[in-house]
Amino acid sequence: MAPKFRRILLKLSGQIVAGHEGFGFSKTALTYLRDEIIDAYTLDLEIGIVMGGGNVFRGSEAVRDFGTNRVTADYLGMLATLFNSVLLQHAIERSGIACRVMSSLPLPHIAEPYIRRRAEKHLSRKRIVIFACGTGNPYFTTDTAAVLKAVETGCDIILKGTRVKGIFDTDPEKNPEAQFFDSLTYSFVLEKGLKVMDSTAFSLAMDHSLPIFVFNILQKGYLKRVLSGENVGSIVK
Ligand code: UDP
Repeated sequence: MAPKFRRILLKLSGQIVAGHEGFGFSKTALTYLRDEIIDAYTLDLEIGIVMGGGNVFRGSEAVRDFGTNRVTADYLGMLATLFNSVLLQHAIERSGIACRVMSSLPLPHIAEPYIRRRAEKHLSRKRIVIFACGTGNPYFTTDTAAVLKAVETGCDIILKGTRVKGIFDTDPEKNPEAQFFDSLTYSFVLEKGLKVMDSTAFSLAMDHSLPIFVFNILQKGYLKRVLSGENVGSIVK
């Protein structure tokens, strides 16, 4: 099957790394993700990945639960994304595929610094690049980091891997009657107030006409099917 895209950015939330436990790291979840990514890699695509950190630490929750200063809490949240990124990198590399972690915060002992031109070089040489530590700035999310890295490195699309089929009018995990949308415009999402990404991330994608595909990463083979052009999810464009 010919790939529909040349260069893609996959956004994975920390929750997906946690597996059923909901917190921390699950070897089963990481192995599953590694296998899905490697399967998609066989389509001869250039793959960038942004990992979230919500399975370990979220800045806003630390402010609420521990009274931590927001800026400090957000830096800790960004460090949490590094755990997920490095664990996934090692899982991918054990399969013999070159994978680099590039960090938006300077942590040279464990990850390369994020430099756009170097990231583009890795991607064009078919190395999987995992972007860690979000945007490197507090008050942002890894969704915003994903859109930013996708725009900066010229990705054709951002794929948001979630636990549900795609975009619904209400949370399908809470409301079995939730209405599913397979194709939407940016203005429809804004008009209906649908939750696709946070507003900063979404408006950045809209401003740069970056399509967002939301799909269920937990369905085996779906990542590859999306990348082969199948409509197994929701697209905003
Ligand atoms: N974060 C941040 N700036 C960024 C990206 C992330 O400060 O550019 C912090 C923020 O505290 C956030 C945490 O890192 O709560 C983890 O990221 P996120 O909540 O986006 O992870 P996800 O929900 O995708 O697992």
